[in-house]
Amino acid sequence: MSTSEASEEKTFASLGIIEPLCKACEQCKYKTPTEIQAEAIPWALQGRDIIGLAQTGSGKTAAFALPILQALWEAPQSLFACVLAPTRELAYQISEAFNSLGSIIGVRCTVIIGGLDMMSQAIALSKKPHIIVATPGRLQDHLENTKGFSLRNLKYLVMDEADKLLDMDFGPMIDKILKVIPKERNTYLFSATMTTKVAKLQRASLTNPVKIEVSSKYSTVSTLLQYYLFFPFKHKDCYLVYLCNELAGNSIIIFTRTCNDTQRLALLLRNLGFPAIPLHGQLSQTKRLGSLNNFKAGNRNVLVATDVASRGLDIPLVDVVINFDIPTNSKDYIHRVGRTARAGRSGKSITLVTQYDVELYQRIEHVIGKKMDLFPIGSKDDVMLLQERVSEAQRIVTLEMKEQQHKKGSKRIKSEGNDDYDFRDREDRDIIQSNKLDNKSGHKNM
Ligand code: AMP
Repeated sequence: MSTSEASEEKTFASLGIIEPLCKACEQCKYKTPTEIQAEAIPWALQGRDIIGLAQTGSGKTAAFALPILQALWEAPQSLFACVLAPTRELAYQISEAFNSLGSIIGVRCTVIIGGLDMMSQAIALSKKPHIIVATPGRLQDHLENTKGFSLRNLKYLVMDEADKLLDMDFGPMIDKILKVIPKERNTYLFSATMTTKVAKLQRASLTNPVKIEVSSKYSTVSTLLQYYLFFPFKHKDCYLVYLCNELAGNSIIIFTRTCNDTQRLALLLRNLGFPAIPLHGQLSQTKRLGSLNNFKAGNRNVLVATDVASRGLDIPLVDVVINFDIPTNSKDYIHRVGRTARAGRSGKSITLVTQYDVELYQRIEHVIGKKMDLFPIGSKDDVMLLQERVSEAQRIVTLEMKEQQHKKGSKRIKSEGNDDYDFRDREDRDIIQSNKLDNKSGHKNM
């Protein structure tokens, strides 16, 4: 992330942040405030409600976390602030930000999300954390069913990625939550876009807010190199494999439109020797976090994901984003490519375009206001050299997926609702057995 010209002179101290928290910023390697931080923090410290129109990658989490931590430091209290987030991963990420910025002042933060045990969450809540980061459904569940838990004394409410919260139909739950928290409170609402639904929520929940919008050119920062590749649909997998091979050694996220393709491509790439892992909404919470942690830790450097992963996740050091499918919503494109070229680093995005995608592709170019460059690759023949191996791997994967579907079907009769694809047992076997596309094809690393 680059800091804006306006904020270049500013420091966290000059925005009014107290010394221990400035130190925490230093420890997190935040040298200067980002634009959203420079704009929002002084208003927040004055006690104003805030609407922040900012993308992931802009530094918005610290823009709301720092003022909350500062207020907590000045008047410590349990159940001080509650942050609502649309996805479980984002909730974890926000809580990590609170922990790393707030450990210096001894903050206790709890994550309350669906898919995990209610009881252990109830125990965590009984320990009176300062900050709760929650998905709305599960928080509402605890408010209704967990004895002794209430947000009657809440001082701060944050709704992060409000557009996504409302798109995911969390609106009614948020309304219920708003009814049981004090009217006298500070509220911060962050959203990538101002939709009519967000405007309605804003009117219902904020008092005389300051609106801060950081320029949308942020979404495609200058350190991001945006490329496309155009080829016939039937060669899509082959081009993807070619790219993965060319980019071997980089950390890569491949975005697809469906859970099925996510699984299929993760298997295909593994079969060809790439350390790929899937991340999508049909995996259990534990597996999603496991995938993400493996990727974050660098154990696997190719993540194949649906848009579940495109928003709000802070995956450090992603070198390349590949759009295997073009997102139907151009704004999702911006969220996806926001996974790379963050915090001043450079990065690449490569969008795969076939004869069926031209219109969507043009729409995206229109939204980002620039033309993408053609990704430089060897000749088409170089790519086609891989076709045979890719076709073979496709056949194996189709069979494996059928087998898994079959197993899943019989498992489901025994235990309804377990939609997981079992990657765990396969993981090491795959990598070991992977018939790396060695020198037969004349290509490196495969
Ligand atoms: P966010 O938009 O909140 O998801 O933040 C994106 C990334 O920027 C995270 O990795 C943050 O740790 C990082 N970050 C936040 N504020 C700063 C800052 N002032 N300087 C450098 N990096 C930052």
